Amino acid sequence: MRVLVLGAGQLARMMALAGAPLNISISAYDVNSDAIVHPLTQQNLGKGLANAIADADVVTAEFEHIPLPVLAQCQQSGKFFPGETAIKAGGDRRLEKQLLDSAGVRSASYHIINNETDFKVAINKLGLPLVFKSALAGYDGKGQWRLKQAEQAAALWQDISALLGADSKQAIVAEQFIPFQREVSLIGARNSKGEVQVYPLTENHHVNGVLSASLALPGNELLQQQAQQMFTAVANQLNYVGVLAIEFFDVNGELLVNEIAPRVHNSGHWTQQGADVCQFEQHLRAVCGLPLGSTALIRPSLMVNILGEDTVPEQILALPGLHLHWYGKSKRAGRKMGHINVSAADNTQLKQRFEQLIALLPEADFPELAQMAARLNG
Ligand code: AMP
Repeated sequence: MRVLVLGAGQLARMMALAGAPLNISISAYDVNSDAIVHPLTQQNLGKGLANAIADADVVTAEFEHIPLPVLAQCQQSGKFFPGETAIKAGGDRRLEKQLLDSAGVRSASYHIINNETDFKVAINKLGLPLVFKSALAGYDGKGQWRLKQAEQAAALWQDISALLGADSKQAIVAEQFIPFQREVSLIGARNSKGEVQVYPLTENHHVNGVLSASLALPGNELLQQQAQQMFTAVANQLNYVGVLAIEFFDVNGELLVNEIAPRVHNSGHWTQQGADVCQFEQHLRAVCGLPLGSTALIRPSLMVNILGEDTVPEQILALPGLHLHWYGKSKRAGRKMGHINVSAADNTQLKQRFEQLIALLPEADFPELAQMAARLNG
C-alpha cells in the first residue's frame, strides 16, 4: 500500500517507520514548500501534489493546519481519511465546539467573538475568569489570553481586536476557565466498519503550555469508560476513520473535552514501546482498511519530550527499558526534537527507571520532571 501523508514532520516519519513491516510505504506532503518528500530523509521526490494523490492508495494527514484548497483536492480523490470535515474541525475551534455540541459531549461553556459586542456578551454570559483562544492557527497554548479581573478587559480587547482586524477569517472562542486537577488524553482508532479500539488514558504534564511528559494510566475503569464513551460519540459523529486523539480536563473525576486532534498525537508516543500495536501502525491499519490491532498496555510506560535540544547524555541509552526517538530536525528553541520512552515490568520499576533517567538529564532542559516522578505510585 502507498500512503500519502499531508504534513512532513515527526508524525509522518514515525508512520513511515511503523508502516515498513506491513509493506506500507509513505510519502509526505510538505505544506510549507509544496513538495512531496521522503518522510525520513526529507528528500524531494520530484512530483507535484496532484500526481502524488493519483499515485497513492490512501491519503491521510499528520496535522490540521492545512490549506483548505489542499483539503478539498484530497477529499475529491475519494481516498482521504479521516477526511476534510474531521481535519477542519481540528483546525478551527468554532467547528470543534459545534462538533462537540452535536456529539453531545461536555466541554467548557463558550461564546464566539467576532466584534466588541460579542466580547462584552461573552464576559456577561460566562463570567470570569475566562480563557480566550484564537479560532484558527492556535496550538500548544499559542494565541491564548486569560482574563481574571474586569478591569483588565479593555486592554485585552485591544490585543484581541488587533488579531481580528488582521485576518477576516479569524475569530476568538471565549471559554469558561476550568479549575481542573489534571489533563488526560485518550487516543483511539475507528475503522470504516465503525469498530473502535482505544488505548488506556494518558496523563499529560505541560510546561509553558507545551507537552513535557505523558504517563499511561491503566486501571481507572470509571474514567476510562467516560472517556471512551465521549471518544466514540465524537468519532461516530464524524464517521471517523483513523486514529483520533481527545484531550480532557479531569475535574474531580468528571471529564470535559479540551480539544481534539484528528491524527496521531504526542501524548500517544508511549504506545511505541508500551502497547501491543502502536498508534502509528494503528492509524495506518485503520486508513488502509486492515484489521485494527490490540491496544492493550503490555507494560507500564511513560514518555518525556525533548524540546529545543539536539543532544542528550549518551549514558541514558544504557538504562534498561529506555528508548530514544529523534526526529532528525534542526535545532530551534522550544522545538519538539525527539522523545524518550521509558517502560518497566511494574509501576515500582517504572518510577525507579524514571528517577534514574531524571538524574542523568540536565534539569534546565527538562524542568518539572522530578515533581512528576514524586507523584508516581510505585
Ligand atoms: P489548548 O491549546 O486549548 O490545549 O490550551 C493550552 C493549555 O491551556 C491547556 O493544556 C490547559 O492547561 C490550558 N487551558 C486551555 N483551556 C482552558 C480552560 N478553559 N480552562 C483552564 N485552562 C485551560
